[in-house]
Amino acid sequence: MISIVGNDKLAVTVENFIKAKRIPHAILIEGEYGTGKHTLASFLTKAILCESENAPCLSCKHCHLADISSHPDITVIAPEDGKKNISVSQIRDLRDQTIVIPHSALKRVFLIDCADTMNQSAQNALLKVLEEPPKTVMFILIAENKSALLNTIISRCVTLSLTTPELSVALDYIKSKTNFEETLIKEALTSEKNNIGRALDVLNGVLSQGSESDAKAFLKAAIDCDRYTMLKIALPYQKSRIDADKFIKDLKFLIAKKIRHSKNSYFSKPLLSIYEELGDFQSSLITNINLNLLFSNLTSSMTEHIRRNK
Ligand SMILES: [Zn+2]
Repeated sequence: MISIVGNDKLAVTVENFIKAKRIPHAILIEGEYGTGKHTLASFLTKAILCESENAPCLSCKHCHLADISSHPDITVIAPEDGKKNISVSQIRDLRDQTIVIPHSALKRVFLIDCADTMNQSAQNALLKVLEEPPKTVMFILIAENKSALLNTIISRCVTLSLTTPELSVALDYIKSKTNFEETLIKEALTSEKNNIGRALDVLNGVLSQGSESDAKAFLKAAIDCDRYTMLKIALPYQKSRIDADKFIKDLKFLIAKKIRHSKNSYFSKPLLSIYEELGDFQSSLITNINLNLLFSNLTSSMTEHIRRNK
């Protein structure tokens, strides 16, 4: 039985189609960062490839190879290094590969990670193979922002939507998996609106690579109420929701650190308000909000908080 924290109904649905051996040939797993999309995708992949009666048995060669990302019948497609989008040529390659028969399992799984980064032509190319896939081919699409996908793609997939759990459920889960103090876990979960993945990032002090120094400079400019510099620094992060999300996450991490180390309550008060508001900006990323507008509002609101407390 799969456990997807706080998504019990969805777990039952998944169990049922696995037991009935009726796993849909195209599945879209959607949900915000940190909700367990990859855990679910990995479970489903094993359920597809495992040949045991109680698939996924988690002990056969298929399950084992899938676990160590070495199964020859799993192909992962994601934006290439340094690129923000899955290109149409990657999808054309995928289409060519779908006609190759499986190497060792009965099926081949094509896992399209960050499926919402496919542009329209890539999505149209995928559509062709989604419409009439070879019998041996299964697709799993993973996306944070389902609205970036064409309706024609969505309608050909069975959508599994993951949501964040209730606080008590998330708290019990992190407590069972880590040694952090309960008060710290609670604090992280509350600030991250019960999102387990993000709360774990905060607890583990994870910062995205590259944007850390930008986030620092951005925060400094905010403290100086210099909106012009803030907007200039944020410009490269307004090109995609994934980048914007990473940037805001880094900013939140830096601010949380500053609040923890600040003995000056005049300083930490506006930071706390900013921190709380950043969570709302981050949530709005899953809507269709224009990124330029989002950053414009963000910079104006941050400088306003600082100014009010000066
Ligand atoms: Zn197995």
